[in-house]
Amino acid sequence: MKLIPCLGAVCALLLASCAGPMGSHSEYGDRAGPKAFRTVVIDAGHGGKDSGARGRLRGQPEKTVALDIAQRLRDELRSSFKVAMTRTSDTFVPLDDRVRIANRSGDAVLISIHLNDGTRRLAGSETYWWRVDSYSLAKRVHAAMRSVATGSNNRGMVRRRLRLTRNPEIPCILVECGYLSNATDSAYLATGSYRQRLAQAIASAIRDQSAHGDAGSGTLPKPIYAAKSSAHDARE
Ligand SMILES: [Zn+2]
Repeated sequence: MKLIPCLGAVCALLLASCAGPMGSHSEYGDRAGPKAFRTVVIDAGHGGKDSGARGRLRGQPEKTVALDIAQRLRDELRSSFKVAMTRTSDTFVPLDDRVRIANRSGDAVLISIHLNDGTRRLAGSETYWWRVDSYSLAKRVHAAMRSVATGSNNRGMVRRRLRLTRNPEIPCILVECGYLSNATDSAYLATGSYRQRLAQAIASAIRDQSAHGDAGSGTLPKPIYAAKSSAHDARE
């Protein structure tokens, strides 16, 4: 009679050590999207000597706006998830260190927060993804950002191999929450209330992903087995 519980314990151990699509690392992300994950890694883009987009119109550089939205997102999420931040102050963190921080937990997703820069006419949010396991998260977060966007502009979703969409071994996306170079976007992004609405919308999309996984996201895209992104091809 002792044999069965014993085998049960061995099975549980084996399952825990080689967990399936969820709760484990995957180099290419060629698997279903995450569901019931417990950790969210929030990456505030740039920092320290790297200011990111300059915010010509309203003064605040990208690194400052990104950190503020990241902290609001952390506050929204921490009652439901364990939250890890790649930075919590105006410090420079190399991209490969951000990837290492993301990989500390297998049962996690990463969202990297940025603000865009371009010509005066470009406006709206943009969401970058690469891995199949990040597709529905990207779709949910992008739709959430659109729902609070001020204008009709929308830059859409872009599948691009970046350091933070390809290299982490967990589902990962990079969002551009609007253009600091556009008068309308930057006026809204300069207000705490708009940043708060953005953070709330993104948090709700992350909670939906955890509750429903890929359900409702349609057919998943095909995996692309490409090399890791290096400094030479980064565009972050
Ligand atoms: Zn950026």
